[in-house]
Amino acid sequence: MKTVTILGATGSVGSSTLDLIEREPDKFRVLALTANCDVEKLAQAALRTNTRRAVVADEACLPALRERLAGSGIETAGGRQALLDTAAMSADWTMAAIVGCAGLEPVMAAVEQGGTVVLANKEPLVSAGEIILAAAAKHGATLLPADSEHNAIFQCFDATRPERVRRIIITCSGGPFRDWSTEQMRDVTPEQAVAHPNWSMGAKISVDSATCMNKGLELIEAARLFPVPHDAIEIVIHPQSVIHSLVDYVDGSVLAQLGPPDMRTPIAHCLAWPDRMATPMQPLDLVAIGRLDFAAPDEQRFPALRLARDALNAGGARPAILNAANEIAVAAFLDRRIGFLEIAAIVSDTLLRYDPPAPTTLAEVLAIDAGARAAANELVKDRVI
Ligand code: NAD
Ligand code: MG
Repeated sequence: MKTVTILGATGSVGSSTLDLIEREPDKFRVLALTANCDVEKLAQAALRTNTRRAVVADEACLPALRERLAGSGIETAGGRQALLDTAAMSADWTMAAIVGCAGLEPVMAAVEQGGTVVLANKEPLVSAGEIILAAAAKHGATLLPADSEHNAIFQCFDATRPERVRRIIITCSGGPFRDWSTEQMRDVTPEQAVAHPNWSMGAKISVDSATCMNKGLELIEAARLFPVPHDAIEIVIHPQSVIHSLVDYVDGSVLAQLGPPDMRTPIAHCLAWPDRMATPMQPLDLVAIGRLDFAAPDEQRFPALRLARDALNAGGARPAILNAANEIAVAAFLDRRIGFLEIAAIVSDTLLRYDPPAPTTLAEVLAIDAGARAAANELVKDRVI
């Protein structure tokens, strides 16, 4: 039996993870579930799985959780420190599915306890990839990528011979505005931006998919996870989201992982790894799919791609600034304080305005993250519509 902790259990990835483990009650024992403040959803999942502990990161939500779980025997806790203590509890398998850099310290706490840490939460890898990887090596933790593209690459990548890999090709659906002109994107609403054509996801990553910043973050994520030169990582538009990514070897062989656009497949791969487990996914019907299309990405209409590649190549604090500014800009867009095209503009301006030295510790990354958020917030105030 594997003991399992889910950080961000009430979100899109958290719910998909719960769906899989609840189908196999003999294989998984839930140790802890955490959420920000979605008390009802957390309490229901806690009761269904009979978790040992349920935690809300927002302490103001603890009384409601306590009341909801009274008499169940489930421990409850609230606040940031309780979240970090819970992430640090010894679990065989931890799903990191908090959104944004709010997940960075919990990921580090999970890594430091030395189990298997499954990263859906990509922003910590963008901001502090080297630090997380070094901590995993030090504490004997196993990192597995749940992001569908990186999971696909992981399945195709011969880690014993990285020098035989010529290219990694990350596929990108292009999001809901793939064929829109910049002019058409000017008046995009939050409702339009969160309606992804292929995937059902949380609001922040849905907006990132619409701006293509998600693919920019994934470019950096891939560079952190796989030992290939930065310029050996390419992005290709593939609207059907059937091929999740590809690895091109020096002999001309290109290996790809295909599957339905449902996060339960990559999550199941991480849950069972190195074994495999059954999921409710229907077999892929290639005849029904009929065709697979590919196109080059357009950095003019989607400047987030260029910003992310520049940040990756510049290194140092740049990826952390890119990520933090994007989190602030996306939140402002979802609040209708700025327009859709201003998301990338704020990220770009924050990168111009704020240029601290490269971080070497987690504390330094957190300081840069805070500094970039403050700078981006100032820019949002200047632009409010
Ligand atoms: P979501 O918004 O649906 O869920 C986020 C979860 O984190 C919720 O449980 C929420 O309560 C919790 N949370 C939010 N803010 C928090 C805070 N400050 N402190 C503690 N907990 C907090 O997000 P999601 O779509 O499930 O995505 C989660 C992560 O996985 C993101 O980093 C995203 O980029 C990545 N990811 C998601 C998908 C997907 O299909 N949804 C695919 C690949 C990668
Ligand atoms: Mg992805």
